[in-house]
Amino acid sequence: MEFPKKFDKCPLCGCKERVVESIVEEEKKKGKMNKKATFGTNIPQALALVDPTRTQLSVIAVLTLKDICGKCGFEYPICVMKHIMPWPPQGLNLEAAIKAAQQQQGSAGPR
Ligand SMILES: [Zn+2]
Repeated sequence: MEFPKKFDKCPLCGCKERVVESIVEEEKKKGKMNKKATFGTNIPQALALVDPTRTQLSVIAVLTLKDICGKCGFEYPICVMKHIMPWPPQGLNLEAAIKAAQQQQGSAGPR
């Protein structure tokens, strides 16, 4: 499977309008957020794939950026990235991990 995996519309209703993204776009227009602030357009989540039978120094983390459908309210992933991270995590900074994954995989942001 190729990463990052992007989903550009709501899987339930097909609407492309997203709540968090539209708020961030408004804030950018007002000049209250930097135009390059792609991270702020999403709700980040991280899932570490840990093998409990082994001592691991690093694990694969699945980083998901989510948003909320502007029509039906369904929360869905808009970008899924794969990232190698140290394990156990020492002060995991989700924002930094997502930025690193985006750099590893080229432009992984939603836009
Ligand atoms: Zn929807």
